[in-house]
Amino acid sequence: MMAAPFSRIFGKVGRQLSKPWVSCQAAGRSISSRTVEVEQTAPAGSGFPPLQTFSEEETMMRDAVKKYAQERIAPFVSKMDENSSMDDEVISSLFEQGLMGIEIGTEYGGTGSTFFSSILVIEELAKVDPSVAVLCDIQNTLINTLMSKLGTEEQKEKYLPRLATDMIGSFCLSEAGSGSDAFSLKTKAEKQNDYYIINGSKMWISNAENAGVFLVMANADTSAGYRGITCFLVDRGTEGLQIGKKENKLGLRASSTCTLSFDNVKVHEKNILGKLGQGYKYAIGMLNEGRIGIAAQMLGLAQGCFDHAVPYTRQRVQFGKRIFDFQGMQHQIANVATQLEAARLLTYNAARLKEAGRPFIKEACMAKYYAAEVATVTTSKCIEWMGGVGFTKDYPIEKFYRDCKIGTIYEGTSNIQLSTIAKFLDQEYDS
Ligand SMILES: Cc1cc2nc3c(=O)[nH]c(=O)nc-3n(C[C@H](O)[C@H](O)[C@H](O)COP(=O)(O)OP(=O)(O)OC[C@H]3O[C@@H](n4cnc5c(N)ncnc54)[C@H](O)[C@@H]3O)c2cc1C
Repeated sequence: MMAAPFSRIFGKVGRQLSKPWVSCQAAGRSISSRTVEVEQTAPAGSGFPPLQTFSEEETMMRDAVKKYAQERIAPFVSKMDENSSMDDEVISSLFEQGLMGIEIGTEYGGTGSTFFSSILVIEELAKVDPSVAVLCDIQNTLINTLMSKLGTEEQKEKYLPRLATDMIGSFCLSEAGSGSDAFSLKTKAEKQNDYYIINGSKMWISNAENAGVFLVMANADTSAGYRGITCFLVDRGTEGLQIGKKENKLGLRASSTCTLSFDNVKVHEKNILGKLGQGYKYAIGMLNEGRIGIAAQMLGLAQGCFDHAVPYTRQRVQFGKRIFDFQGMQHQIANVATQLEAARLLTYNAARLKEAGRPFIKEACMAKYYAAEVATVTTSKCIEWMGGVGFTKDYPIEKFYRDCKIGTIYEGTSNIQLSTIAKFLDQEYDS
């Protein structure tokens, strides 16, 4: 098993600071870190620390990931986008750094950290490559959480150590005919003695090209409607499971998105994750949490783009002045910076609410909806601020512009987020 530095810091050695990480906090500081130079404690008397207050562990994790992403991911980004393929070295370094099992307990070889740390990690990775961020996001906020919460001891012993060290998982809900209306899915699982036979197909499955296990939502009792939907663990290589070709996408090109087909795929009933017929509940629950991850991805993406564009405006001279010095530019830049700050606060607030065990669904939808909007505006503006060069592949801006579009689509489209927010508002005004 490869070394997992975060596990060593946050788990096995009792959450102590160790010298290498102290030094990398300074080395990893970049332009984009300036928004989070925070006090560790609340000012005396207030009792309420500002929302951008991080524990020592969270600060270390964020700074270490910033450094890691610059050193070990950035060199691959452009090639991976061009080739529509995630580099094996990037995948193995994510595992090696303990970033694929952030919340998995140390007893299973995970990092043993928190949901909020996952959010910070996703944000930092997205500043460099949103495709890498979504790989880490799905693994941590959907796959590992479902496995940890619902797995039997046998399932946890089999999968969690692998998910923390070398196995990618895919979350398989969407089908060609069921996207926003996810629970009208048609994939069926028919019981035969101690086994289930799965038939059907899935579409848009992220990370499927490299996944070792698929969490598949299939209906095991169609007479019960969506209450028959059950989550099955299907290993790669199971007879009858075919991973189709990758979609040729506008953005997020390094992240594989594939169709899956199930032709009499036979899985033992022990492969049910959680309870029979509860899959729809698990999917809703996980996607509620997952939306905070997507908000963090969009926030990081927008900040990463902004961090490339603003320095350019401070260097580029036209009419004998830095273009940053024109008031017309300053107002636009300040406006986007304000939106970024608002997206960050919504995202962190939703994550803190979730961690505190308080209701968070409306806030998660708001964070995802708004962060996706801000990413759209930011990336578009950054291209304009850079003029012609922003439109070329010599700078990463055009890639951020392509990558951001997915934020309004997956894990619930923007319309679906707005509908959920409205549902909550309706209930609130009932009382
Ligand atoms: C790159 C990528 C990765 C993905 N990864 C995964 C994955 O790993 N696993 C997985 O299971 N799925 C995944 N998805 C699927 C994704 O979640 C769906 O694409 C998404 O839920 C939207 O479904 P759809 O594409 O069928 O669009 P549709 O549902 O057909 O929506 C089309 C339009 O209609 C609007 N609309 C639909 N219903 C309503 C309504 N009730 N009210 C108002 N407007 C409505 C939508 O907002 C949207 O604008 C991925 C998709 C993409 C593109």
